[in-house]
Amino acid sequence: MHKVLFVTSEAYPLMKTGGLGDVCGSLPVALESLGCDVRLLMPGYRDTLARADGFEPVARLQPPLFPHHITLLEGKLPGKRVKVWLVDYPPAYDRPGNPYYDPYGNDWYDNAARFALLARTAVALALGRTSLSWQPDVVHCHDWQAGLVPAWLSLETRRPATVFTIHNLSYQGLFPRDTFTALGLPDTLWSSEALEFHGALSFIKGGVVFADRLTTVSPTYAREIQSPEFGCGLDGVLRRRSRSLTGILNGIDTVEWDPAHDAHLSKPYSAHRFRNKLANKLALQKEFELPPDPDMPVIGMVGRLVYQKGIDLLLGAIPKLAGMPLQMVILGSGETRYEKALEHAAAHAGNRLAVRIGYDEALAHRIVAGSDMILMPSRFEPCGLNQLYGLRYGTVPIVRRIGGLADTVVDATPANLRAGTATGFVFDPAEPAALAAAVTRALDGYRNGRQWKKLALNGMRQDFSWRKSADAYIKLYKTALHTR
Ligand code: ADP
Repeated sequence: MHKVLFVTSEAYPLMKTGGLGDVCGSLPVALESLGCDVRLLMPGYRDTLARADGFEPVARLQPPLFPHHITLLEGKLPGKRVKVWLVDYPPAYDRPGNPYYDPYGNDWYDNAARFALLARTAVALALGRTSLSWQPDVVHCHDWQAGLVPAWLSLETRRPATVFTIHNLSYQGLFPRDTFTALGLPDTLWSSEALEFHGALSFIKGGVVFADRLTTVSPTYAREIQSPEFGCGLDGVLRRRSRSLTGILNGIDTVEWDPAHDAHLSKPYSAHRFRNKLANKLALQKEFELPPDPDMPVIGMVGRLVYQKGIDLLLGAIPKLAGMPLQMVILGSGETRYEKALEHAAAHAGNRLAVRIGYDEALAHRIVAGSDMILMPSRFEPCGLNQLYGLRYGTVPIVRRIGGLADTVVDATPANLRAGTATGFVFDPAEPAALAAAVTRALDGYRNGRQWKKLALNGMRQDFSWRKSADAYIKLYKTALHTR
């Protein structure tokens, strides 16, 4: 039985801003059911502590170069058996709102120190330098916030194996040179073969360069990031590490996201009671003050409103979409320019387009359930979860053929429809016209009621549970232990 320490900045429901939170809240549960002993280490943000019922202090640690000691709080992932340790250090984490940004949308000024602290704690646990009796065989680090862990551990002769998962290569944790010194990183790590990235300190390189094994969250993204177009300046390093890099597709939490038992829905439904999905659509139209119409196709979109998600493509396509028989509901938050532009578009769309700016987990469920289609025109997409939720809810995805979207949605070509493998609508160019053309195809498909239902049910029959991917991680842990 492997003992695995997850080091992450998010794990649903203790903290979530995106897919990372979903994955770190559900993969450990799947690994445990396959016999792993998984513990999670994450920051004790203010909102996290508020959700951390029953957590108790179990250890104190004095991280080097930090003025105060930290307290490790121990508890369980709410509703699950997985053990969690929260790093309680109020000067770093006792702040309102988003874990990465201040209320003005800027990075917290001390992000380097905040996540170095997480890494320091992980290293102490990994090396058995705490009063706790548990020590991992494998440390599984997630995204740049945990990037320094493999780097620091690489300096040790006796250490656990390290795995680093890239959930999104475009967030790298870059900081000025003097931060490197301030964090007490040794000079041997300052080179372009180590943590330096064009004169800056790169947290993510700590994982990319030093982890025994690298993964991304879909096979296609694993290939894409080895090219200059998607490599964010790290494609060279990633190509050099290509033999240690694999793509393991994200699964979803099939209990949390289950249309038959989803407490957020006005009427649960399943493939056998697909008709009940309609009640959710009518409720959604009502909630968004759109004209209630069972026959009007509704396109939903939920996500961070950032460049990655192709919001500009959608905005460019809106004049075309405005002439089509459809309604659209959007939930998201992110860059002000996109929030404003979408709100402006909604104000001028005359009962066709409704936009809600904000973050709302329950509403996300209602949109996925109540829409007929879910749109993801991403410019790049490491895996993407909303298309998977869409598939599970019989809400047909319209996606760009990129990253994990390409790996999970099968285009409704005549041949795929005949073969019964089609699950959605896929387009290639990152252009508004291509997006609009895909929507046109989807609307055509929608008008053929019987075929549409088949398409939706094809999606609902797919297995996106963690089972297969959790197996793949366990195999990977074995390889990592072997090659350490
Ligand atoms: P990313 O990790 O790039 O943000 P993913 O599609 O992998 O994208 O995961 C996003 C997750 O965050 C999904 O579970 C999605 O439903 C959720 N999400 C994103 N924005 C919002 C929002 N405004 N309200 C509720 N849930 C959201």
